[in-house]
Amino acid sequence: MLLANVHVEVSPELDSWLRETRRYLHMNPELSLQENNTSRLVSGHLKELGIEHRTGVGGDGRSLFMDVEALKASGVTPGPTTGGTGILGTIHGKGPGKTLLIRADMDALPIDEQNDVPYKSTKSGVMHACGHDAHTTILMGVAELLNARKDDFNGTVKLMFQPAEEGPGGAVAMIHDKILEDPKVDAALALHVSPMWRAGQIGVAAGYSSAASDRVTIRVKGVGGHAARPHMSVDSTLVAAQILTLLQTIVAREIDPFEQAVITFGTSHAGTAPNVIPDSAVLQGTVRTYSPGVRDHIEKRVKEIGAGIGMAMRANVEVIYIRGYPALRNDEQMASVVREAAKAVLGPENVFERKPGMGGEDMAFVAERVPTCMFNLGIANPELGFTFAPHHPRFDIDEDALAAGVKVMTAAALTYLQE
Ligand SMILES: [Zn+2]
Ligand SMILES: [Zn+2]
Repeated sequence: MLLANVHVEVSPELDSWLRETRRYLHMNPELSLQENNTSRLVSGHLKELGIEHRTGVGGDGRSLFMDVEALKASGVTPGPTTGGTGILGTIHGKGPGKTLLIRADMDALPIDEQNDVPYKSTKSGVMHACGHDAHTTILMGVAELLNARKDDFNGTVKLMFQPAEEGPGGAVAMIHDKILEDPKVDAALALHVSPMWRAGQIGVAAGYSSAASDRVTIRVKGVGGHAARPHMSVDSTLVAAQILTLLQTIVAREIDPFEQAVITFGTSHAGTAPNVIPDSAVLQGTVRTYSPGVRDHIEKRVKEIGAGIGMAMRANVEVIYIRGYPALRNDEQMASVVREAAKAVLGPENVFERKPGMGGEDMAFVAERVPTCMFNLGIANPELGFTFAPHHPRFDIDEDALAAGVKVMTAAALTYLQE
């Protein structure tokens, strides 16, 4: 099908620019919806290259995905919803053709970095622990190469630099701001760094690359009282325990064994003293699914079980179920484009099949609308200590991965747009 004899070089100058840029971003991380400095840097780079681009994309914050009121009800205080940091760049090839969107996310996490490196975060409590500094840097490098090779492809490349992947869904705000239109986007690509592979390698999932990720809060209201007089109370802890146990039977007994789902309750809080029956309890958890039918079923059953147990045990139970990002299913054709391009620039021995993942990713909103492949870029190097997973305070990358990412993404774009 595809030729993928694309040759892509990253010069030593570009390679050191990538390392420097990533280190600068790593030292200056910005939380979701506050990526102002990062956005300015990206815009400055595109301007220098003469690439037309729109800033402030998705900026009014009104079209963010998550329901802010529901989030507050579940005990989460959402960050400021001003936004205004999204950027959409456009590069036109030599003639008319298809339109490819390539995406990078720019936000960091509220984590205190524990690495002792010269490029350690300068902001206490904020860290690029998910590698979005690398994603942003790589897309800037891709922009530079594709812009220099406009005569090598037809159609259009759109460069999507998005805010707030870590929440509450910056991709949605940008989609609402019409980034998939005019010209209409035919396909999309994105990458995420991963310690599952070494720098210079990639992993591509056939099928699902990330799961739908929903948040559940269950509030149990009983009647508090003396531990020695249970008959005068309604024990919220016991009600919560019953709910917790019964919810685990949904996956075990109600879901087709050939489907996948995970229900995990990470917090359960009740009570203040051993001799007091608590009058309330709160459970918080996450539901991960792939197929929309399974997702619908679990949402319905979590609510029914909560209400049913509450009624059976004389407690008042409130279930707040907040839908997060949907599942991301890789398009077969786009996955082949990535695999072939990566084999050409990294060597076939460095291209791996990846198992489906249960993480959440807001690129799924793009993938719901256009054929997409999101793949993993290896960043591990055990000899140098780069083994930690994203969101760990010691997460870091082997920077050889930056050039590899630029090569694969550029080659994939040239492959897709060569006809
Ligand atoms: Zn993350
Ligand atoms: Zn991430």
